[in-house]
Amino acid sequence: MWRDNLKLASFREVPLERTVIRVGELEIGRQLVVIAGPCSVESEKQTIRTAQKVKEAGANMLRGGAFKPRTSPYDFQGLGLKGLKILALAKKETGLPVVTEVTDPRDVSWVSEYADVLQIGTRNMQNFSLLKEVGKADKPVLLKRGMNSTLKEWLNCAEYILAEGNPQVILCERGIRTFETYTRNTLDLSIVPAVKETSHLPIIVDPSHGTGRLSLVEPMCLAALAAGADGLMVEVHHNPGEAFCDKDQALSPEMFGRLMGKIKMLRDCLDRFD
Ligand code: PEP
Ligand code: MN
Repeated sequence: MWRDNLKLASFREVPLERTVIRVGELEIGRQLVVIAGPCSVESEKQTIRTAQKVKEAGANMLRGGAFKPRTSPYDFQGLGLKGLKILALAKKETGLPVVTEVTDPRDVSWVSEYADVLQIGTRNMQNFSLLKEVGKADKPVLLKRGMNSTLKEWLNCAEYILAEGNPQVILCERGIRTFETYTRNTLDLSIVPAVKETSHLPIIVDPSHGTGRLSLVEPMCLAALAAGADGLMVEVHHNPGEAFCDKDQALSPEMFGRLMGKIKMLRDCLDRFD
């Protein structure tokens, strides 16, 4: 049984105990979390404005990349330390905890000074030296699913982090590569209940990268919650037309506000199933 190797990532105890991860006042795995914000930190104005808008609409956490792993080396690579400082400012302004990507093992300790949650992107899911390093950090880790990865490979990557002594791993489904080209990726929502029956770790869903299409973000957010996800990650830009990256999937603050209204209604409905 492949789960036998997952000494820490799979269920061990009966009755089943699910991991709850505390970030500030949030309890991920117990309450629904919505993480929202721009693909990348572009400027102080853009990040603060977007952060204020998503906070007003009811988001629980701010996202934003300061290190951007881009397909082309000529595309915007992120602001690095300057971006992290802007995120710290946005956190101070709004009170929202911050999740941001770390791409290099050498950056983990100092990025941890700015991030409330360290994100491992899809391209780095199997970067084992990076996984070991965040496994030594004292911060929760958001582990995105590799775009070509099976559930078994993904949970083994979580195991790398857990085995280093960091029990705070949140999984994030963000779509996988298939033959379909209409969508940027194929959002695999069946993985949500599959994670729930194999692991105690919380799982959130990112329909922005999962679909790459504005029109599909809202329906897939709602579907993810119906499938049992513990939360969502959504890209929002205060002026999507001007976004430096991923502008085709960025919600405007107005669209995000409408989405939050529907999320709240659906959450109340789903609560009645418990
Ligand atoms: C991101 O969330 O900023 C990102 C780059 O996503 P992914 O690693 O899933 O492509
Ligand atoms: Mn993006």
